[in-house]
Amino acid sequence: MQLRYSFRVYPSAGQRTALARAFGCARVVYNDALRAREIARSEGLPLPKTGDLSRTLITEAKQTPGRAWLDEVSAVVLQQSLRDLDTAYRNFFDGLKGKRPRMGAPRYKLRKDTRQAVRFTANARWLITAGGKLRLPKIGDLKVKWSRALPCVPSTVSVVKDSAGRYFASFVVETGPGELLPQTTPGIGIDLGLGHFAVLSDGRKVDSPRFLRRAEKRLKKAQRALSRKEKGSRNRNKARLKVARAHAKVTDARGEFHHQLSTKLIRENQAVAVEDLAVKGLARTRLAKSVHDAGWSAFVSMLEYKAARYGRAFHRIGRFEPTSQVCSQCGVKDGPKPLNVRVWTCQACGAVLDRDINAAVNVAKAAGLAVSTCGAQVRPGLLPAPRSEAGTHPTPQPSTAR
Ligand SMILES: [Zn+2]
Repeated sequence: MQLRYSFRVYPSAGQRTALARAFGCARVVYNDALRAREIARSEGLPLPKTGDLSRTLITEAKQTPGRAWLDEVSAVVLQQSLRDLDTAYRNFFDGLKGKRPRMGAPRYKLRKDTRQAVRFTANARWLITAGGKLRLPKIGDLKVKWSRALPCVPSTVSVVKDSAGRYFASFVVETGPGELLPQTTPGIGIDLGLGHFAVLSDGRKVDSPRFLRRAEKRLKKAQRALSRKEKGSRNRNKARLKVARAHAKVTDARGEFHHQLSTKLIRENQAVAVEDLAVKGLARTRLAKSVHDAGWSAFVSMLEYKAARYGRAFHRIGRFEPTSQVCSQCGVKDGPKPLNVRVWTCQACGAVLDRDINAAVNVAKAAGLAVSTCGAQVRPGLLPAPRSEAGTHPTPQPSTAR
């Protein structure tokens, strides 16, 4: 399985200039190739092959005065840029053929694009020095903050500059088997909700942590400040950078939270089940969708790859009955309930159900997981009391209500 490991990089002023040059050259080659293909397409000619483009747009172009500066960066970076364009075209055509979600045609890269990246493969002879620096051809030895260990030697590294002006080295690592976690028994159903980030079929409710909520609050404040600044003013530019930084903080904090929670759930459970978000999406408002979907799908894909990596089962439940309409105790479907109904009593069996936990239990059951179903109940259905107990105080029931 391929995993991506990203580390923050701190280039010196000179290295930043060299990286800017590499980003620029990669962009020019990409755009030249895109132009060559578009011209061929409009004239009905066969699309030029990547090998031919590599010869004309890199090797031969370097000999011309107009493109001589391409020689100042690693040729691998330029070849990888052509490869990226190849991939963009392939994805575009596969989308047209219905093999994958439809996407736009490749577009020209702009100098002002906020995210820039170049890739070095093994051919570029990049390396990690004995002193722990990242040595890149024609750029130098970059200082890296190694926040975790690489499981093996990667063959490829991308250097990325994000919209907040930060630099990252991103390694693709091939991980093999042999990292399976010891077997454990329970399985768990997860309901991704609006009130809580996730509700588990065992009755636990997980909220997003304070560090994430705080970062989100700061982002909102920065966005409000930006909207008050006059267009084209110097202050607006400053405010925009502030928003970009706050945004990057939120993205990092959210990713960190997703990693922590998904690792914990995969460690604790032999099987994990979630509802297919596409199915779930039908029941939600547009606002909620825009806010939550991106985060949810990132979280679900983490669960999926961690399950595969550690030998756990992962179930995605697609169903036509919304999980909130079915009683997890007796299985009777008693119709839709408005979102503000958080707790209701099943008309058939009398169980008092928490909406979110009930949904999580239904997800687990749909995946065929053996779960304790008492978690969903705020109060179990009323059973006729044995004669001897009639008239005495009822024993307090375990409750999952807050
Ligand atoms: Zn019921």
